[in-house]
Amino acid sequence: MSSQSGINYRELEAEHTSGVYAKRQLTIVRGSGATVWDEQGRAYIDCTAGQGVANVGHCHPQVVAALQAQAATLVTCQEALYNDQRALFLNDLVEVLPYGLERVFLCNSGAEAAEAALKFARLATGRSGVVAAMRAFHGRTFGALSATWEPQYRAPFEPLVPGFTHIPYNNIDALANAITEQTAAVILEIVQGEGGVRPGSAEFLQHAQQLCRERGALLIVDEVQTGFGRTGRFFACEHHNLEPDLLLLGKAIAGGVPMGAVALGPRVTNIAPGTHGSTFGGNPLACAAARATLHVIQREGLAEQAARKGAWLVEQLQDLPARRVREVRGLGLIVGIELRERVAPYLQRLQELGILALPAGPTVLRLLPPLVIDQAQLETVVGGLGEVLQ
Ligand SMILES: *Cc1c(COP(=O)(O)O)cnc(C)c1O
Repeated sequence: MSSQSGINYRELEAEHTSGVYAKRQLTIVRGSGATVWDEQGRAYIDCTAGQGVANVGHCHPQVVAALQAQAATLVTCQEALYNDQRALFLNDLVEVLPYGLERVFLCNSGAEAAEAALKFARLATGRSGVVAAMRAFHGRTFGALSATWEPQYRAPFEPLVPGFTHIPYNNIDALANAITEQTAAVILEIVQGEGGVRPGSAEFLQHAQQLCRERGALLIVDEVQTGFGRTGRFFACEHHNLEPDLLLLGKAIAGGVPMGAVALGPRVTNIAPGTHGSTFGGNPLACAAARATLHVIQREGLAEQAARKGAWLVEQLQDLPARRVREVRGLGLIVGIELRERVAPYLQRLQELGILALPAGPTVLRLLPPLVIDQAQLETVVGGLGEVLQ
């Protein structure tokens, strides 16, 4: 459909886009809070949060103000030099990180955070093996993809990085058998996001930490999707009192501006100048946005809001017809509805009702709304789901 300006953005973009994305027939041009608008001015409740990014809502005024001020002050400054915004952000971030994480490598995406962590784990341990979980998602660059499980993502790109094994998630015995003297790291999500919204058990995650300590491997926790209030705690690690050696951050970290990060614990040693780096890593614009985002999450109590709203949402969704719904799972405002059939047609029908939601694998409908979503919007989402799944 053409816009008010007469330009057909969809046709224009489709002509030049790479082809790696399965595109929806929708052009989004504006956002505010949990709402986005298409080029015709039609509003949608955004239960994708831009793929788990807009935890504080689209265009949060404090993030916008921080970006505007910093854009007019200094946009770029390499990490070989010190910078005021970077210093302030790192100081604020470390205050909310799980215990022991006091140093941070800054980059530009979740996959880059995974790459950095895998390299750091090799440096610190002198080992090269990595144990990951089935259904895990850690990104699509070669190291991150080697830790990712989905065969469809991996197969066309083999050979991948050697030394990776995948064990069934939440299976302590399989994990115990997989960690050897060659294992540099175990990498796990607290709730598997792309893999179908599957929460890890406290027992499994705590055992993983203990086994790593006993056997000289490092625990990498991937909170790219679960961090920054999403699950009802600032970091999902807090649900299980975990103290990972490396914590991967991304998506929501900078309120929509591209940023990734790896937080490092005391067992991550041997990180010397020249061992890793990134041109854009720690740039002042992203750091200013990230610091404002962090303050919004704290000031507005967004983790507590996610816990409360998520519990309400899951309770409502339990009443969806069992004929279509196998299970409803979630933690805070990462919620998965596992269907007995393919999810794609339901996402399309929700879109027609003005609700955007995500898949998580072929049969799971995933809701990742901005944490600022209000009660009326949540009720509309529940009503819409009831309508399309009846
Ligand atoms: C999205 C995601 C990634 C990859 O992040 P990108 O920014 O897309 O590279 C890694 N891990 C998890 C858990 C994710 O959800």
